[in-house]
Parts: sequence; C-alpha cells; structure tokens
Amino acid sequence: MTRPVFRFAPSPNGRLHLGHAYSALLNQDIAARFGGRFLLRIEDIDLTRCRPEFEQAIYEDLAWLGLTWEEPVRRQSEHFEDYRAAADKLRAMGLLYPCFCSRKAILEAVAQNEAASGKPWPRDPDGAPLYPRHCRACAPEDAQERIAAGEDHAWRLDMQAALSLAPGPHLYRRFDGEGREEQVAAHPERWGDAIIVRKETPTSYHLSVVVDDALQGVTHVVRGQDLEAATDLHILLRRLLGLPTPLYHHHGLVEDPAGDKLAKSRGSQSLAELREQGVSAEAIRARLGFRA
Ligand code: GLU
Ligand code: ZN
Repeated sequence: MTRPVFRFAPSPNGRLHLGHAYSALLNQDIAARFGGRFLLRIEDIDLTRCRPEFEQAIYEDLAWLGLTWEEPVRRQSEHFEDYRAAADKLRAMGLLYPCFCSRKAILEAVAQNEAASGKPWPRDPDGAPLYPRHCRACAPEDAQERIAAGEDHAWRLDMQAALSLAPGPHLYRRFDGEGREEQVAAHPERWGDAIIVRKETPTSYHLSVVVDDALQGVTHVVRGQDLEAATDLHILLRRLLGLPTPLYHHHGLVEDPAGDKLAKSRGSQSLAELREQGVSAEAIRARLGFRA
C-alpha cells in the first residue's frame, strides 16, 4: 500500500513564528498517526523577498522543534521549468491571457466604476477587486506586439473559459485528522481572472503549489485557514491540468495573547527570539497542544 504524503511548505521571506511551528508539528503529528511520509518544501519563487539565510533558519528552527523530513528538500526556485510547462499547457488550452495592467491602474478603474455606479465592485477572498478583464479585450496581435517589445506582463486565467471547460460543482474532500472526511464544494469563480504567472517571476503561488503537490505525490494538504479560500482556485487548476486532488485540512490559526492572528508583518515573536529568551522546544510543543 502506498503511504500518505504530507508536506510543510514555508516561504523563506522571514523567520518562522509560532503559527508555522503549529502547522509543521500538526503535519508531522497527523502523518505519524496515518503512517505517512513528511516532506518539507521551500516556496521561494519570490526572488526579491526570499533570502538564503531565512531558508537556513527554517532548517534550524524545525530541527530545534524536533521535526525530521525527507531529503532532498524541493526548492521551488530550482523548478521554474515545471511551472512554465504547466502554464504552457493552460495557454495551449486558451485559458491564459497576458495582462499589462499595473495594480494601480486596476484600483483606479475600479474606484471610478464604483463612483459612477454607486455600487461596490466585487472583491476576491483576499479583498482585492476582481480583475475588470480589460486586457481580455486586447487583440492577440496587439498583445504579441507588446510582449515582443518587452512590455511587463502577467498571465491571467480566463475564469469564464475555464469554468465552461470544467463546470462545477468543484467537489473535494476535507479530513479532520481524526479519521473523519466530508465532501465540500469549491467556488473558484470568486477569484475572478486570477494571476497564474506573475510579472516578476515565471509562476505564481497558486500554480507552483498545485504543480508541486502533484509532482511530489502529496495526498494530504494540512495548512492554515488563511489559505482555505485559495484551495478553491487550486481545485480548479488541478482539474484543468489533469492532476489528482489531495485531501485538505485547514487548521485554525495560532493567536497571540491579544487574540490577533500571528503575522510576520506585525512583528510577532519568532521561534528564534523565543529560543534566545530561554523557551524550550518542549515548552513550545506543549503550548501548541502537542505532547513533548
Ligand atoms: N508557502 C505558503 C506560505 O508560507 C504555504 C503554502 C501551502 O501550504 O500551500 O504561506
Ligand atoms: Zn490588464
């Protein structure tokens, strides 16, 4: 029988904090209970924000917590070709189109529309306005010309075309780690024409995560509730690319003493800082609800 495969997939753009520790420990805990394998993946597609010293720190912090993982570790920055191939496939299916718009131009167009209509423009689950499909109307020859001239561009998913090729319901299975499973429906349309290939890197989080989970044979995705909505888009991308769908578990987020979600950006204490203050790995495991 093939063993279930779990993974923890941090981005080396800062130090790990308690929220990461919880996610990693939960993955390994459920993997152990299911007799599964545990992989670590470094999601470093953002070459401007990711740094080698943060990657080293990930290995140190996780080892300190008592985690072990399989080698070699997959580093996304070494596999841009895999993501390019997946994007090519979607492009060949007529599902991607180039977009030359800046974020600022999109926000301005949306604000103008809202002012003129008096109605709020629809937003995606992250709160960003859905893309108004401006570049969808661009003639392919013109787009080719602009690309050939070196103009910066992203590639967006034509959500309407994607949904007519892969109509809903987009069902997937959730598991709770205690052996219970349930079927739920994803709603990828709420992301609109999402960016699949970014301007500054030849992929996106959504594309890489879907390609890698399939390539690595991941069967169980355990990650925070902050990524639950993204799963809806991932389910659609997998279907379009003909990739198998794993089971998903979206865990609650660790809160700081004030009840706020932990975030690197808000200067939550890193595991390294806690360690320097003399907090033991055992104490952290216990605080997060894991046995020592
Ligand atoms: N790299 C993502 C993050 O650090 C997590 C990806 C995932 O678990 O799917 O937020
Ligand atoms: Zn555009």
